[in-house]
Amino acid sequence: AVLVAGSANLDFVVRAAHVPAPGETVLGYDFATYPGGKGANQAVACAHAGGAPTRLLAAFGDDGHGAAIEASLRDAGVRLHALRVRGATGTAFICVSDAGENAITVAPGANAALRPEHLPALEGVSHLLLQLETPLPTVTAWARAARAAGVQVVLNAAPAQRLPAELLAAVDVLVVNEGELAVLTGVDGDVDAALDRLDVPNVIVTLGARGCCARLNGRRWRQDAFAVVAVDTTAAGDTFCGTLAAALAAGEDGAAALRRASAASALACTRAGAQTSVPSRAEVDALLAA
Ligand code: ADP
Repeated sequence: AVLVAGSANLDFVVRAAHVPAPGETVLGYDFATYPGGKGANQAVACAHAGGAPTRLLAAFGDDGHGAAIEASLRDAGVRLHALRVRGATGTAFICVSDAGENAITVAPGANAALRPEHLPALEGVSHLLLQLETPLPTVTAWARAARAAGVQVVLNAAPAQRLPAELLAAVDVLVVNEGELAVLTGVDGDVDAALDRLDVPNVIVTLGARGCCARLNGRRWRQDAFAVVAVDTTAAGDTFCGTLAAALAAGEDGAAALRRASAASALACTRAGAQTSVPSRAEVDALLAA
């Protein structure tokens, strides 16, 4: 099984002509809520990808906002290990402009309550998939526990931040976008040089519509993006990570896993929302065969 441990948020999304500047009020258009959070999004993508059962450790508040996220996880077939706390569920306030730019404020809420001891038993788990929307000391402890148990650790180092060496030392597969890579390594604008800086056996850098590149066990790979008409790139990275973990857990080799993750994330760009935009395995198979 793949165990995802991470955030669950309810996304409050409003579209507007432009993203407001500080002090400005913008009259927007339609409003919608979507189940989100990097951990929950990646779990849904992993479950849709098939190949291995998916479990998620996530935290929920008692404000009722968790219900939609839990329903989405249930529909996807994710087995949930829920920590329930008092107070707010994680919430993201997202403004998307006509130009497709966004501004996002996340209130971590219950996600901040996740601690090392909440990690469930790792029996039957081959891969642990982590992100950085939960407290860094917790993520570090989870990665080290998994490494000690012989579980492969996949870390999506998002949102961007510097990482302690003890966390990186426990990571088998690191997935970052260009901005995250620059913050992590201090090398800006030179992906190849930045890749070489990282002392992790497998590193994948996603490049948006330009696809991705990787260093897998010392070998360089490039994967072009699949051509689609993108309408909302929210959760493209999450779909990539969840699909990648599922493919690796199913025993696919690195190149095949990159291809499948690229196809799934391209399809996710063609639909609105986070978890609502994750394609089915059949859709991904069809794109891969096209
Ligand atoms: P993030 O959303 O985390 O910033 P990226 O923007 O790099 O991540 O996107 C992750 C992956 O999603 C890319 O590697 C690519 O495979 C796919 N992707 C993103 N944008 C597009 C696009 N416009 N067309 C096709 N695929 C895309």
